[in-house]
Amino acid sequence: MDSNQARGKSTTGINEWKQRPPYRIHDSNEKFDVKYEANCHCGKVKYQLSRKEPLDSKLCHCTTCQTQHAAPFQWAAIFHKEDINFTNGHHDLEWYDPTEKSIEHKLPCKVRCSYCHSPIMDEGRNMILLFPSLIHLKDDQAKAYFKPRLHMFYGQRVMDIPDGLPKWTGLSNESDLIEDSPPELVKEFERKREEERKKRFEKGENE
Ligand SMILES: [Zn+2]
Ligand SMILES: [Zn+2]
Repeated sequence: MDSNQARGKSTTGINEWKQRPPYRIHDSNEKFDVKYEANCHCGKVKYQLSRKEPLDSKLCHCTTCQTQHAAPFQWAAIFHKEDINFTNGHHDLEWYDPTEKSIEHKLPCKVRCSYCHSPIMDEGRNMILLFPSLIHLKDDQAKAYFKPRLHMFYGQRVMDIPDGLPKWTGLSNESDLIEDSPPELVKEFERKREEERKKRFEKGENE
């Protein structure tokens, strides 16, 4: 597949995407500090991570994640594009853009192994969402770093997960907290919203 287009502006040069993060190979004198290793099911795609703790770890219940992963929800850990270094198979990937239902490399898109089709990541415009199920988390400390911190698109769920974590109806921090979210968090969130409403009112803006 000859896909070198990023959404909006097209990238110049054939296979230009291979030169930039997250697909850029860190060369040996860059000292890529390997904290974790991961691989797809068939082992053709392998990568390393240099960041110990993901920026966030979320469970997404949206219907796109449900169908794309053939699972009730998706578990994703967020990283910077520079945190990953592919050691194998990263030029044998396939893309899927769920917004346009196209297989061109347009961001944001789903990235899979072109051989076994394991989901490798969701590539966003600035960040990547990796799937901890592929990452070798060898000890309890590593598992604790990756522990999910919230549920999002819980309004679209196919099953209840009564684990006491915050549960957002849609996008985290931009929708409503529901169900078994910790009550203190719900109160705090409502207080913040009320404050913002007041601020807008004082500025003379209508809702
Ligand atoms: Zn594979
Ligand atoms: Zn989702």
